[in-house]
Amino acid sequence: MLKKKGLGDRIKKLLGIENKNEAFFEDLEDILIEGDLGAVTAMDAVAELKECIKTKKLKNEQDFLLEMKSILGSSIKVNSLLPEKNKLSLYLILGVNGVGKTTVIARMANYYMKKCDINKIILSAGDTFRAAAIDQLKLHGNNLGLKVIHQKSGSDPGAVIYDSISSAEAKGAELVIADTAGRMHNKENLVKELSKINKIVGQRVDQNNYKKVLVIDATTGQNALQQAEIFHDSVGIDSIIIAKYDSTAKGGIVIPICRQLEIPFSFMGIGEKIDDLIPFDKENYLNSLIGLS
Ligand code: GDP
Repeated sequence: MLKKKGLGDRIKKLLGIENKNEAFFEDLEDILIEGDLGAVTAMDAVAELKECIKTKKLKNEQDFLLEMKSILGSSIKVNSLLPEKNKLSLYLILGVNGVGKTTVIARMANYYMKKCDINKIILSAGDTFRAAAIDQLKLHGNNLGLKVIHQKSGSDPGAVIYDSISSAEAKGAELVIADTAGRMHNKENLVKELSKINKIVGQRVDQNNYKKVLVIDATTGQNALQQAEIFHDSVGIDSIIIAKYDSTAKGGIVIPICRQLEIPFSFMGIGEKIDDLIPFDKENYLNSLIGLS
């Protein structure tokens, strides 16, 4: 069970109020907005709750929270992002600098090795823009006992990914996890960079096993929604990983992203250790968000 202090505590405190009048609903809306659900999602959710109260008899705090959970959860989408055994998959990890991409790559590999018996994994240092990113991935690879395909900084990311696929084919690897440059992309750059990578991957990896995965940072609130919009619009995102969920008292950003973009979530980062990447579990997430035990 994930534990999160913040939004849930504030909702619980508010629920103590006897009279569920207009001021109560306004306060609830404010709490949801401050919890990163965004104004539109918060307003819609509160409007729906008001209707529920009219039609259903919500007897106590627990009933109210369960109703809220059902309303907030209705748009959340989840996918499992599981590599196929004995076939090559390639996961391209996208996201702006600092969101947690490199960390997530190492943790995904660790998760697949420990939990899914997927052991032949290659890490691909596709962020050729920052020398430090290549070194960081090499270090992770070393710790995990995994091969890292890299070239010198400034080289073509497409070439690194090409080499990674060649190495994977030669070794019968089941998964390539590729890093990408995390500069704050504009749409034009993203499309240009990705169309080249798409072409290289498309020729050699089954389309169903090629996934573009966006990492967002839970602490950046509404910025994460904007990033998801730009990336999805430019390259089509198959799955989102929310990193640093442990580092925020808010965390509601998953809901507006799912509502607006309909992209499923696959994993969440919940701490600073290698095992702190867990599959995104809708129940667990909602319970932690609104403080249901
Ligand atoms: P990148 O620039 O996107 O590759 O980001 P990094 O992987 O270098 O991560 C940036 C920082 O976020 C590092 O200090 C990571 O340890 C930290 N980080 C990543 N994921 C999590 C998480 O789930 N929880 C916490 N607390 N820190 C994280």
